[in-house]
Amino acid sequence: MVDERTILCERCGYDLTGLEPSGTCPECSRPVHRSLPDSRPGSAWQQRPGLGSWWRTNLSVMAAPRATMASLRIGGATSTSLAALNCLVAGAILVAPWLGTPVGDPARAARGGSDLVVAFTYLWVFAAQTSAAGAVLLGLTWCEYAGIRFIAARRGWRLTKAGAWQVCCHATVGWLAMALAPLAGLAILHVLTSVLRLPLGGAIDLRRVGLASTTWGDVLTIAIPAALLLVGLFAYELLVHLGVRMNRYAART
Ligand SMILES: [Zn+2]
Repeated sequence: MVDERTILCERCGYDLTGLEPSGTCPECSRPVHRSLPDSRPGSAWQQRPGLGSWWRTNLSVMAAPRATMASLRIGGATSTSLAALNCLVAGAILVAPWLGTPVGDPARAARGGSDLVVAFTYLWVFAAQTSAAGAVLLGLTWCEYAGIRFIAARRGWRLTKAGAWQVCCHATVGWLAMALAPLAGLAILHVLTSVLRLPLGGAIDLRRVGLASTTWGDVLTIAIPAALLLVGLFAYELLVHLGVRMNRYAART
């Protein structure tokens, strides 16, 4: 296994040890200086974490994933805080529409009490559910990290631990996209039924496949958000995939 700090050509993985920064890779002709850790300025969040850089980093990962992933600083300051923030916001978006809806939800049970009790209950239930959803997403982020480390090792890439984690953390904007998917689905459904006035009340018999007899509207209410959720999940996977491609030979600083 190649040491994490050895400078490899970031395009082909050739060991550049001892070569002049002004030279080129003997294998693929990529300029040596472009494979040096100093050529990576870091994402806006890595440079200075804050609300503005949070927004700019997420936007940049979505708009120009390759360039952003290729600019990440490997090692140094961790981006776990970026991942935690994105997972928490995504968690809040995921749980908010259902707050107080499921049977057994304390917020639902609190209805009918005094305004203060209801408000307080909704607040702590929302905080607890958001934290739980955020923790699940952060857990999935870690699973993705373990997964790409495994794949990289099998393919013979020198993907460093720090590099793999930076990629997974910066891809968490994909979780935000995924969290927004069900809301987008509900919006589409609203347009179909209320604006275009499609007759979705027609019955459809799903008993043959082990389900109930229902209407097209009910089927679409589940199918559209579920499909968009999958698209969101794919967005996260795609961002990680591009990130790994741009960092599979990057050296740790
Ligand atoms: Zn090369």
